[in-house]
Amino acid sequence: MTNDEKELASRLTALTRDLILIPTTDSHPTERERCFEFIHNHLEGLAGVQTNYHESNGYRSLVAGPKTSTAPEILLCGHIDVIEHPDPDCYHSTIRDGRIYGPGAGDMKGADAAMLDLFRTLHAQHPGISLGLALTSDEEIGGTDGVQFLIQEAGLQAGIVIVPDGGSLNEVTIEEKGVLHLRVRREGHSAHGARPWLGTNALELLLKQLDALLAYFTDNWPVDRAADHGHWYPTCSLNVIETPNESANRIPSEASATLDIRFPPPHTVGAMLDNISSILGPDCYLEPLMTAEPCHLDPDPLFCEITESITGSPVRLIRAAGASDSRFFRRAGIPVNLSRPLVGNLHAEDEWLDIESMVTYYQICQRYICQKLIGN
Ligand SMILES: [Zn+2]
Repeated sequence: MTNDEKELASRLTALTRDLILIPTTDSHPTERERCFEFIHNHLEGLAGVQTNYHESNGYRSLVAGPKTSTAPEILLCGHIDVIEHPDPDCYHSTIRDGRIYGPGAGDMKGADAAMLDLFRTLHAQHPGISLGLALTSDEEIGGTDGVQFLIQEAGLQAGIVIVPDGGSLNEVTIEEKGVLHLRVRREGHSAHGARPWLGTNALELLLKQLDALLAYFTDNWPVDRAADHGHWYPTCSLNVIETPNESANRIPSEASATLDIRFPPPHTVGAMLDNISSILGPDCYLEPLMTAEPCHLDPDPLFCEITESITGSPVRLIRAAGASDSRFFRRAGIPVNLSRPLVGNLHAEDEWLDIESMVTYYQICQRYICQKLIGN
């Protein structure tokens, strides 16, 4: 690294570590507020920049950009929330082997630090540049009060958005699977556990029906653990099973299960629901908890070219099994560049981010933004 790069690396590392120290989880609304204040302070004193807060159902978002426009040509977008860990004292970081280790280092406080610094630097160098920044606080729980709210209710617009929350340094995501989080409920009739012939066991019946459903998925789309094609087929995971019954000697009159179903195009939420409902039969009551259609992200070829020229390695266009906030931008017709620094062990306490790749990612975005917005 050059001296400038070393200085950038130490600035971004310090900012990332400060952000990790604030436990911005769903159960800590005041810590999320504190994090936004900290970020707001970093944005202060920039000529021509306006910063606004938006709020939906207790989830705050911060939007910054040129005073003259509500639709920047390029928008940087991230989330400050991290997932909850059982150990409340784990929210700090260590540096080892050129990496920052800590909860949220990779998803996505390192990327947030890079975007914050980039936003500051470019607005200081080019006052009025058509570059925006949006940071939300509910991505890990679905994004409806964050990015969806900003687009549908707060009027957020952009020419294209950069979302460093998927892919990798040389992997730009072009497609994401659709999502169907589904609760399935089944009723029966309770009776004493010693006389099962008098009752209808809701739990046993539900299990049989779920078995048939899981078999439908694995028969049609066998899970291939070693596959190198992005596992581009529908999957179904049975993740929760419940009954209000707590007695060992009573037959349960009610049972429910929660499934996480993911599917690529041409499948749709509607067609998936129709199929599932015909396999489970009329006795099961289906309640979709969260749905998203599969989407194509339409990244800018220039972003891929710049990634190749700065890293000196080819870009792989990949398909993602997981969904991100990108889908809300796509629904509004806004293209998404989805890649990020090198990260690993996401959502574990020893989640990490590679520092040098954070600097490289910064340079990719910087060159892309400068070429698009100021022509050099
Ligand atoms: Zn994320």
